[in-house]
Parts: sequence; C-alpha cells; structure tokens
Amino acid sequence: MKKTNGQEIIQLFESWSPKKLAAMDNDPIGLHVGNLNKPVTKVLVTLDVNDVVVDEAIAAGCELIIAHHPPIFRKLSTLRTDTPQGQLFEKLIKNDIAVYAAHTNLDVAEDGVNDLLAEALGLQNYEVLVPTYSEEMFKLAVFVPVEHADQLRETLAKAGAGQIGNYDSCSYTLQGEGRFRALAGATPYTGEVGELHVEQEVKIEVVVPKSIKSKVLRAMLNSHPYEEPAYDVIPLYTTAKEMGLGRIGKLPSSMTLKQFAEHVKVSLQVPAVRVVGDLSSTVSKIAVLGGDGNKYIHAAKRAGADVYVTGDMYFHVAQDAEAIGLQIVDPGHHVESVMKVGVANKMQNLCQLQKLNCEFIPSKISTEPFQFV
Ligand SMILES: [Zn+2]
Repeated sequence: MKKTNGQEIIQLFESWSPKKLAAMDNDPIGLHVGNLNKPVTKVLVTLDVNDVVVDEAIAAGCELIIAHHPPIFRKLSTLRTDTPQGQLFEKLIKNDIAVYAAHTNLDVAEDGVNDLLAEALGLQNYEVLVPTYSEEMFKLAVFVPVEHADQLRETLAKAGAGQIGNYDSCSYTLQGEGRFRALAGATPYTGEVGELHVEQEVKIEVVVPKSIKSKVLRAMLNSHPYEEPAYDVIPLYTTAKEMGLGRIGKLPSSMTLKQFAEHVKVSLQVPAVRVVGDLSSTVSKIAVLGGDGNKYIHAAKRAGADVYVTGDMYFHVAQDAEAIGLQIVDPGHHVESVMKVGVANKMQNLCQLQKLNCEFIPSKISTEPFQFV
C-alpha cells in the first residue's frame, strides 16, 4: 500500500462523482477549507460539518473531511471568530483539517445518495427519476499496425474510452490492409519514401464520451507509432446512460401505505415519518429523492409513483401532492446520512484498487437537529 495525499484522494473521488454531475447552478462543491497538498491517512465522511463533527475528526486524526452539505453555502462576508461559523473554520484551520464538499454531484452519481436510499428501501430495478445529465457520445475508429493493437487498446481503455454500463475496456477490432505512400520529407514508421506500402493493420473502435474526447485523442496520438495516424471521430445518436436526481423502482411485494411508512422508518432508521395519502391503499411503485424534494412532486406523479419519499415537504406542496393524487412519505432530510457509510465504503474500495493507504471513517455524530417528542 502506498502513502497518499489530499490531491490523489479527491482525484479518485471525482473519478466516481465528478463535479460535472452537479444538478444545480453554482452548487458550491469542491474544496471549502484548507488545502489538499498534504499527506492524508484518514478521512472522515459526514453529512454535515459542525463543531462536534470537527472534534470527532480531530480525535480520530483525520486530515480531511468529505461532507455532503457544503459548509460554506452562501458567500461569506466576514470571517469573525466570535461567531459559531467563524469558530468552526478557525478550529479546522488550526488543526490543519481540509473540508471537501460533494453535494448534488453526489446525489446524481451512481452509488451516490439516491442509489443508497433506493437500496436501503429495497427497491428493485430502479431508474433515475429526474434526468439531469446525459453526455454526447462519439465513436473513435483508429487504424494501427497489428503488432501495436494490444498496446493501443490498453492506452484507449486507460484514458477512459470504451466504457459501457458496468463494463470497461470495450472495443471492436477488424483486420485489413492499410495503404500509403510516404512523400518527400516524411519519416515513415514502416515502408520507404516514394513507394506505395501495404501494411497489415487493424481498425479498433471504441465509444468515447464528449467530456474525455480530447484526452482520449491525445493518448491515442501519443501511443500510435505512425507519423500521421488515420482515425475517424463519429458523433453518435446514442447517449451515455442518463443520470439524475431521485430514483423510482418497485418494492419486492406490494403493501399498504401504512406498512410502507413503517418500512421507511425501519430501513432509513428514523423515529417518525409524515405521511400524505390513504394509509390503507396498496403501494408498490416508489419514488425516492434525498434531501428536499419539493420541486419534483410532478415528476414523481408523471413517473407513476404510488408514493414519493422525500424530505422537507412544505405544507402547501403537501396539499398540491394531495390534489394530484400523489402520496408522500417524508422521513426528513437527515436520511441522507446513509451517505456516510456508503461513501466511506465506496472510497475504501477505490483506494484498495489503487493500493492507496487511507482509512475512511463514517462519522458517528448525528447532525439531525429535530427531536420527536
Ligand atoms: Zn441534503
């Protein structure tokens, strides 16, 4: 296992949950406090950053905190250490603890907050509820001498080309003859200047998402033996899998709304939920959206949800839901704390694969401000 640093850890995190997935304008994600140019051995994963959480990070010896809710959500106009917020930042800086926030990008990411909630509820065959991101795709076809094919396929895969669903290194190879005549001034890899040359070549085809097209082309050109590699880049009508907020799926077996409300309490570990709807009705198709899902009641209705599980439901939005015949179970915003164990496990696995020595600790502090009495 190799020692690692903040830059490497966040690079790895963003390879899974990139900033481009953020689903709101100017979502304040990224590094909030401190710096990443330092060795990191322990990372605390938390829903929120507050004074008790920072004490937990200090006690555990963490150099970095990964939080879902950005600690600086609105622009700071002052940094006074006689305010609770100022004292929080003072404590972080004095203890050299960096804070990195992954907000709506983590909601959207695969294995992020919404997938974790859908899993916790036991939903089957769930899909994205509100698509917020899909990427243009291209097909790269490149012609290369047979003996260079393996190396080039490896280069393309390493650069991220050929990823389809849960598969990487996808490519298709066809063999054929390449013909060319090198003109004066050329220094051909094979063949003579002025003579028509026939070379046994293969055509390698891979899919490439737009966001990494330049990187993949650069890697291909650097690794290709020819002075003037021949290649095509073709736009595709197919897009990469759509990503977005919320999930919708089915319960393994239908139940009454009352039973489902109990199921939510147990599976999301909350003492109480608020419910809109007919407790004796039968439900099986469930939409879930972590955090504040007020905006998406119509999306849940359109998608055919029997119940929409989301937090922070407003009085009037609950009335609107009732009016359109959408039932609601509101377990509160704090259910997003499933991300603590989820993100810690995911990052631990990613580090294991890269042989990086770093421990991810899910915070044990509840940042739920509400009590039920
Ligand atoms: Zn939230």
